[in-house]
Amino acid sequence: MKKKEEIYINYGKDIEQMTIDLMKKAEISQDLKSDMSVVIKPNLVLSSHPKNGATTHVEIVEGIIKYLQSHNIVDISIAEGAWIGEKNTLNAFKVCGYTELLKKYDLELIDTKKEDTMDYEIKNIKFRVSKIFQETDYLINVPVLKGHCQTKLTCCLKNLKGCIPDKDKRYYHSLGLNEPIALLNTILKPNLHIIDSVCGDLTFEEGGNPIESNRILLGYDGLLLDSYCCRLIAYNPEDIDYINYGVKYGVGKLFNENTRIIELNKDNKPNKDFLRSDLAKELEKYIDEDSACSPCYAGLIFALSKVNNSHEISLNNRKIKIGQSFRGKISNKDLGVGDCCKNFSNHVKGCPPNGLDILNYLKSLN
Ligand code: SF4
Repeated sequence: MKKKEEIYINYGKDIEQMTIDLMKKAEISQDLKSDMSVVIKPNLVLSSHPKNGATTHVEIVEGIIKYLQSHNIVDISIAEGAWIGEKNTLNAFKVCGYTELLKKYDLELIDTKKEDTMDYEIKNIKFRVSKIFQETDYLINVPVLKGHCQTKLTCCLKNLKGCIPDKDKRYYHSLGLNEPIALLNTILKPNLHIIDSVCGDLTFEEGGNPIESNRILLGYDGLLLDSYCCRLIAYNPEDIDYINYGVKYGVGKLFNENTRIIELNKDNKPNKDFLRSDLAKELEKYIDEDSACSPCYAGLIFALSKVNNSHEISLNNRKIKIGQSFRGKISNKDLGVGDCCKNFSNHVKGCPPNGLDILNYLKSLN
């Protein structure tokens, strides 16, 4: 039970090795048996390379496979059903590098659009779930942490929408998405979640504005993880309706003071990358950055994106300082983000601070 309240985080650029290191640190092998079947469910919502911010990096899935095989697991499948716009998921498998992975490890790729389903009914809502996810011994959910134009956040709980037929996806949308997502998670209960927070999108499920965070997270409770991860991209858990429904229907626990955060490589976070997002580039006018780490900078971009259009930001012609070059500098007038600016009288604590704390700080400047 204690394990359920743990969240593991790793920072870096070697995505495959980061994943293996997380699984080792969390001692996932304790839950595995060599004769188990394992299904890995990435987010391949559309045919778009992971660098665009929408889909799961194939290196994470390769890290998972290597770890599983090192513990003598042979029955491994990768299953996903792309969004309604894609007639089949094979294009997404190909564009995102999964077809090559399949050949390399001789694994089965399953397009859940073509799979048989199991039927359920809860609260007068009908659910059909691809059988593969219910029949496996061990389900690993591998979502992307990113923004979403309708639900605001998409991460662990929403990623399971890829486990149902297209017809039901339309039906869920007609019901407002949030309640069906929560209820689906009372049916499907992954054993493990490994979250791709390498470069999730600022606002949209389909990508286009990736924000590099160079981070991967691991945990066991999807609700706990989502209520933690929404903070990273500057949302309150209460702002996310499917999280509220998830609490109501007992899907899991909210992130709380008893949650144990275990960080790997915390003193070696990669520096901020070149921004490939036009939306994010516009926000750089508010920032004075010097040697900032990418998860720290990403938190600031996510926070700024929430206040930029609402005229809630009042910087009095000051730029927000962020980065390791501000360590040891003393200021009574500058605004700073992160512990590197701890000698500023006015700064957000944390290393890295989460997006929500930065957002609240920006709002408090009015
Ligand atoms: S506070 Fe400094 S060291 Fe910590 S994440 Fe931010 S920039 Fe990096």
